Amino acid sequence: MARLRTEIPGPRSRELAERRKGAVAAGVASTLPVFVDHAEPGLLVDVDGNRLIDLGSGIAVTSVGNPAPRVADAVREQVDRFSHTCFMVTPYEAYLDVCERLAELTPGEHDKRSVLLNSGAEAVENAVKIARHATGRPGVVAFDHAYHGRTNLTMALTAKDMPYKRGFGPFTPEVHRVPGSYPFHDGLTGAEAARRAVAAMPDPDGIACVVVEPIQGEGGFIVPAPGFLPALADWCREHGVLLVADEVQTGFCRTGDWFACDHEDVVPDLVTTAKGIAGGLPLGAVTGRADVMDAVHPGGLGGTYGGNPVACAAALGAIDTMRELDLNAAARRIEATVLPRLRGLASDAVVDVRGRGAMLAVELVSAEAAARVAATCHAAGVVVLTCGTRGNVIRLLPPLVIPDELLAEGLDVLEGAME
Ligand SMILES: *Cc1c(COP(=O)(O)O)cnc(C)c1O
Repeated sequence: MARLRTEIPGPRSRELAERRKGAVAAGVASTLPVFVDHAEPGLLVDVDGNRLIDLGSGIAVTSVGNPAPRVADAVREQVDRFSHTCFMVTPYEAYLDVCERLAELTPGEHDKRSVLLNSGAEAVENAVKIARHATGRPGVVAFDHAYHGRTNLTMALTAKDMPYKRGFGPFTPEVHRVPGSYPFHDGLTGAEAARRAVAAMPDPDGIACVVVEPIQGEGGFIVPAPGFLPALADWCREHGVLLVADEVQTGFCRTGDWFACDHEDVVPDLVTTAKGIAGGLPLGAVTGRADVMDAVHPGGLGGTYGGNPVACAAALGAIDTMRELDLNAAARRIEATVLPRLRGLASDAVVDVRGRGAMLAVELVSAEAAARVAATCHAAGVVVLTCGTRGNVIRLLPPLVIPDELLAEGLDVLEGAME
């Protein structure tokens, strides 16, 4: 293909991969070992001059483009003024701006507060801290196929053993795993799946929160049956259990709305965000009901870098871009283009096609099939990712600003690879 100058990975990437072995811990793996030189809209350009179509957005992060002009300008301007003070030492306005935007954009019209952090895992970790503190209860409920991060608490919440948990225990206690809703495999309605989930929970008097991804990400892009999330929210409200929506992957226009909970008008008590929030700079947040968030004593939440001013400036630039370019509509357009093409894939290896907005997936018969398809795409210069508890799902997370012709070209390659 004309975009490729060498085989993938090329000679310069292979040289760097050799150097990497002597410097980078082996536990850090890469999907596609091409070293990136720079990015262009919808493309990653590697050190050998190959131009790869990006259908992964660095795992749902660079939704607003890479580089994104408003993010880059905001970062430059901020870093020239100051790069850090620590909000816990001397605060700055950009942190407030981000918290106010989060209050406006997250589901529900109630009074809200936020805390800013550095990553998705840190956001989930803090949501649990806050929920325990506010309720005085220890228990946390998480679902089959859940992914919430790699810190000790979030590993405990994460379902998949390899590669995330194996050998890293013991894990934090008081985490209870229950079945969720996986309509393709369980055949249950949303209400039935919610009843099954609740029946598997311990006494609600001991549960601080239920942590749920409104569409499961790493676990396989699993869209719950309609009604599952609302039924769960109702049950939580009835029992004084806080509902934490982990929107780290689904948030900020990815599913065609600001948050995936919006599709079913579910209003969680707490929402965690990260990934797409700041155009590639590390930022995470917990946003939630003012009474719950403010239950924690002053000094109980924070961190040296949480809500770093450069990351906050990037987030403001990213959110402005989402509004100006109407990236919710862009995500819905991507769904309208991609979903029919995925449904039309003529391969016996495909068992299910699903997703919402620009978060779309093909479940295949086996992890081997998914790995083969991904490798074929990679060799042809298209970055696709896999996911799923069994590793048998190909997932697409294109930047929401990807040019139509690149998206079409990427799908051509995926179609070819399926055959
Ligand atoms: C990626 C992810 C996390 C962890 O975020 P990090 O920034 O990698 O710590 C948590 N929850 C969900 C749903 C995610 O997709």
